[in-house]
Amino acid sequence: MLEEAPVSVYEVGLRLRGKTVLVVGGGSIAGRRVPRLLAAGAHVRLVAPEATTTLSDLAASGELHWDRRAWRPGDGDDAWFVLAATDDPAVNAAVAAEAEARRTWCVRADDAEASNAWTLAATEFDGVGVAVHASGDPRRAAAVRDAVAAALRAGEIAAPRTRTARPEGGSVALVGAGPGDADLITLRGLELLRRAEVVVSDRLAPQELLDMLGDDVEIVDAAKLPYGRHTTQEQINAVMVERALEGKFVVRLKGGDGFVFGRGAEELDACLEAGVPVEVVPGLSSSIAGPAAAGVPVTERGVVHDFTVATGHVPPGPRSLVDWASLGAGNGTIVLLMAVKNRAAIAAALIDGGRDPRTPVRIVESATTKNQTVRECVLSDLGVTEAHHPSVIVIGAVAGRGREL
Ligand code: SAH
Repeated sequence: MLEEAPVSVYEVGLRLRGKTVLVVGGGSIAGRRVPRLLAAGAHVRLVAPEATTTLSDLAASGELHWDRRAWRPGDGDDAWFVLAATDDPAVNAAVAAEAEARRTWCVRADDAEASNAWTLAATEFDGVGVAVHASGDPRRAAAVRDAVAAALRAGEIAAPRTRTARPEGGSVALVGAGPGDADLITLRGLELLRRAEVVVSDRLAPQELLDMLGDDVEIVDAAKLPYGRHTTQEQINAVMVERALEGKFVVRLKGGDGFVFGRGAEELDACLEAGVPVEVVPGLSSSIAGPAAAGVPVTERGVVHDFTVATGHVPPGPRSLVDWASLGAGNGTIVLLMAVKNRAAIAAALIDGGRDPRTPVRIVESATTKNQTVRECVLSDLGVTEAHHPSVIVIGAVAGRGREL
């Protein structure tokens, strides 16, 4: 086996806020590196005759400065850091040589050995930055970086805070947990959940997300609050606001997206009225993700130009706010939530409104979970086709296009 020489790299974090960084070359490598430089607050000066669309858009919106020409000696005079990323090794060499002469750090994208600095494979999670190199093997570094990122996100690597990151006073985050599979929460949602001191959870929020919380986190199970139809929501609001006013960071975790039939609006109002700082984190709604998980796109080019998400918890009739007749008269996709019980009456109302009784239907139960079950029928049979809570019911041409996953 080949003995590898010890790596002679000194890892360091550059604080680039307000500092000029010269990027030479406007191709895909520059395109990948520039966003992180901008995120670090650098003033990016791009020198390149051509640039990718993303880079030229950034230039057009003023986020970076673009000198649209070939590199010339002296371009790096005011730079603290240089990235040589053209597709011409001779140009990269000249850029690097100038940087070396000026004692500026320069990464050569084409030649790690000839670079006096390396870009490390980096990731950031919840305020922790990790950067990896692997002796000039970028794929190996990226693989380790990805493994560390996944472990941080999964909580397998603990990253406890030694000083509190949040200011005095509590706050609330209304977090959509996604349709069912714990992996389908957003990165932001997961990050906030990990910081939570109190979690007010929902029946449809994935249980695995609660299992990973520390023992010191108070979990308030909204489904177990003393029963009373009209007071449960008020109790949830009260618990959230109370804990936040005690100075705690509260995450209200809900299935799907909290603003899609999730009473997120009422929770937001309760926080705003109490003067509690509140953040809204969107989630993947089962109304779109449920059909998708069964291979049914809610729109498809050349097939439908609209989709409507309706709740079926109130049957068609004077109490319902849905105009079932005009939904029936249309030809777009209809996605029904909370409609298992009233599905027969809804199907009848849609057919009355003009929808073809043979319109394809898919019923996706427990979408994205290990219990996901998909059933097919036509609209006139919806009432007699087996369906159980929780299900998303998709009605329309997209449901009949026979895709099996
Ligand atoms: N805010 C949620 C919807 C809440 S209403 C969201 O955006 O997804 C509750 C209804 O959502 C259920 O009656 C069911 O119709 C649907 N639903 C939620 N999770 C589901 C899942 N995993 N599979 C199928 N339907 C689901």
